[in-house]
Amino acid sequence: MLQVEEALQAILEDIRALPPESVHLADSLGRTLAEDYFAQTDLPPFDNSSMDGYAVVAAECATASAKSPVSAVVIGESAAGSATTIQPSAFTAIRIFTGAPIPPGYTAVIPQENVTVATDRSAIVIQTQVSEGAYIRRKASDVAAGTLIAPKGAVITPFLLLALAAHGNAMIQVTRKPAVAIIATGSELVEPGQPLQFGQIYNSNAYMLAAMAQSAGAEATILPIAQDNEEDILRRLEEAQRYDLIISSGGVSVGDHDLIKSAIEKMGQLKLWRVNMKPGKPVAFGKIGATPIIGLPGNPVSSAVTCLLFAAPAIHKMLGCSEASQEIFSAHITETIAQSDRRSYIRCALTHIDGEAHVTPLGLQDSHRTMSIAFMDVLAIIPEGSGVFPTGTLVQVIRAR
Ligand code: AMP
Ligand code: MG
Repeated sequence: MLQVEEALQAILEDIRALPPESVHLADSLGRTLAEDYFAQTDLPPFDNSSMDGYAVVAAECATASAKSPVSAVVIGESAAGSATTIQPSAFTAIRIFTGAPIPPGYTAVIPQENVTVATDRSAIVIQTQVSEGAYIRRKASDVAAGTLIAPKGAVITPFLLLALAAHGNAMIQVTRKPAVAIIATGSELVEPGQPLQFGQIYNSNAYMLAAMAQSAGAEATILPIAQDNEEDILRRLEEAQRYDLIISSGGVSVGDHDLIKSAIEKMGQLKLWRVNMKPGKPVAFGKIGATPIIGLPGNPVSSAVTCLLFAAPAIHKMLGCSEASQEIFSAHITETIAQSDRRSYIRCALTHIDGEAHVTPLGLQDSHRTMSIAFMDVLAIIPEGSGVFPTGTLVQVIRAR
């Protein structure tokens, strides 16, 4: 049986990044950049004032003090968006506002609170030393034209979006979202909203898996439920082949009605089946034509865990995303946890106590217990073995939401 890392590697080997598409800046949040972006201009594009005040010639006020004040005549104004072109003459100042260009010839700004202004505003009196360049934001001091501002593979956050906009990019090249087909298999399944007969249950997995795929950056489509018969399953898989990735749930175990594996073998190629983990052991992966298919077990908890561990990283790779697909960190367990012969992923809630992460298992961990994941924050990784991890043990956890 494969270890989790081996299985993930085998899956990712068969996953390719998708081509780019162009989206408007306003629609780009959360998308992955498909090319490098460089600064198109210097930022700031011109020397400008960082304060509301007066532009002066620093050399004229270098020795200003309360005992020997310097006066300057205010001969013009530079406001953001409307610069002055007046040339300086001796002992003059320009009224200036934050972000406005420094008028040619002036070499410093004095904040307005540091000067005395004549009642008619025609002159100012300076009583403190002014140094060259004071309160001037220099051209290119933020970023020089040609600098890499956003690398290919980066996910667009509100802050990266700011940088892209600051360089005038309206349309952004991002990786196309993977189109993911979600297929729930099971003759007992009924869609939410319909009445239930005895022996039936609602198809809950498909909605969770679609949401997880969307959170990972994909566009998910839930296909109609496939009954546990070969014809129905083959028809669904046939239909799903035009998607970039197929995620199925159920039918991958060893029961007589578990037909996904044989269907993959019939239509394409089964690359792996069964991973040394708990829950989620019977997970399968293969290809139908060029389309990868991840067959997740039907138990909702197993479905959630295997989707997080295998499907989400696959979507990430399709997006060409350069950031780690999983956030892994250390946390203390608040209960004793016994090891098992398989690597366990314990569903936990996360709290912070005195700045340290603590994780608490969410009740009984059987893989059919939907309430063990309803409020899940993380999966705690408990390595295989026969020992016991006492309360307080530091373990690795994977963020689940
Ligand atoms: P299977 O992997 O098909 O043997 O299913 C294992 C368990 O998960 C069974 O109890 C199924 O009824 C349940 N199950 C399978 N698919 C779903 C689904 N889409 N939604 C909720 N439960 C499911
Ligand atoms: Mg089933």
